Amino acid sequence: MIKKFILLLTISLELTMAQNIELAQSLYNNYELFREKTLLHKRLKHAEILPLIEALKKDKNFSVKKAGESAEGREIFLISIGKGNSKVFLWSQMHGDEATATMALFDIFNFFRTQDEFSNYKKVILENLSIYFMPMVNPDGAEKYQRRTSFEIDINRDFNRLQTPEALLLRETFEDLKAEFGFNLHDQSTRYAVGNTYKSAAIAFLAPSLDHQKSIDSVRDNSMKLISTLTKMLEQFIPGHIAKYKDDYEPRAFGDNFQKLGTSTILIESGIWKDDRENQYIRKLNFITLITALYSIATKSYKHQSTKIYEQIPQNEERIFDLLLRNLKYNNGKEIIITDLGINQNEVSFNKSTEFYISSTVQDIGDLSVFYGFNEFDFSGYELSMGKTYPEEFSSIKELERYDLNKLYRKGYTNVKLKSAKFNLPFTKLPINIKLNNNKTKMHGIKLLGSKPNFIIQKNGEVHFAVINGFLIGVKFPYGKVENALVE
Ligand SMILES: [Zn+2]
Repeated sequence: MIKKFILLLTISLELTMAQNIELAQSLYNNYELFREKTLLHKRLKHAEILPLIEALKKDKNFSVKKAGESAEGREIFLISIGKGNSKVFLWSQMHGDEATATMALFDIFNFFRTQDEFSNYKKVILENLSIYFMPMVNPDGAEKYQRRTSFEIDINRDFNRLQTPEALLLRETFEDLKAEFGFNLHDQSTRYAVGNTYKSAAIAFLAPSLDHQKSIDSVRDNSMKLISTLTKMLEQFIPGHIAKYKDDYEPRAFGDNFQKLGTSTILIESGIWKDDRENQYIRKLNFITLITALYSIATKSYKHQSTKIYEQIPQNEERIFDLLLRNLKYNNGKEIIITDLGINQNEVSFNKSTEFYISSTVQDIGDLSVFYGFNEFDFSGYELSMGKTYPEEFSSIKELERYDLNKLYRKGYTNVKLKSAKFNLPFTKLPINIKLNNNKTKMHGIKLLGSKPNFIIQKNGEVHFAVINGFLIGVKFPYGKVENALVE
């Protein structure tokens, strides 16, 4: 009898897992049907989501209410759908510069609004769950593309003091709902790899701790089981790209407190995917993950999953540079050394934080053999030198545009002087740095660490590559592209 029962249980577990995976695959293949096409970039503003929320108000399946306002008076909404007994609460972007999941929430609204082959899944979800969404908890931070609110306070450290109206609103909404499951949706550092592998952490999960001892009660156990289910599902799309966020107890954070107060909480951190600066692929993964999670909660299939998968997820490790150049010979003025260079291409916002340009930095040098690069090259036998400024002035941008820049790279130049030109912003789309004639800044000398990466890479006295503002380009052979150079 017991054997038979176990057998049935095993079959039902496999069946529900298979259903989860089938649903996820189908969502993956049909994502374009649901993608909210007006949302295209991570510097998302409150004004961009307002018309979408207006449209939801007209949909009778949704309830949309104003939950409150940010400190600067932007409306924060609570949107709900479903008639089930189990409550699920999802909130996004309590950090203003972490919009990936907000975009995915609008894809999820579209999912529930369309008539299609998924109707059976939707029925199961909406009959069993009442789902509450609070997208963009920190619209003032989003406006400036910054983590903190307009009070310069981190909402996620304001659970106890409640000095920001946004934290107060989130906490009150939580206490009002007393949901069974909570989804705390964030973006994490773009430097994380999964454990000690070269694979970027595309998604990191955490079942937040209840205390410093990292105890496990039934509430946290359910979070772990659900994360195990989601990890197994996601592995088919991004094998090896799923990490665990650090599980140190943080008594000032929302996730940790919600978990303690009885809501099984799941932290989802959107990470990084190569060549996806606007996080659109990770957004798609969020969409699939969250719908699979809802289905799994609705069917309670997560309960059959062991927490082992969760326990075995490797930690986030800060190991990724944008560009990693290995084994270069370099004369530092004292000695000829062999060094690796870890270069990061940092985004700088402009135009009211709706756009960005890149300003790169040499983040680390020395033996970087335990690190990885999104792009990396072994330059054994090559020599690095600082790029120089071409001594003759160009009269205009036009003249510079017509010039064969390869000639300059071959002579060791990565910067040019310009007699007169107006630049509103300190960058250019031309693949060479521009020094304005009123600029008196000195050369950076021979200091590598922390410098702006403008280099020449040669072998046997011949220039093979140049690095312009942290972008590697071929000189001897065509290779690579400079997204932008700098104007100083
Ligand atoms: Zn965050």
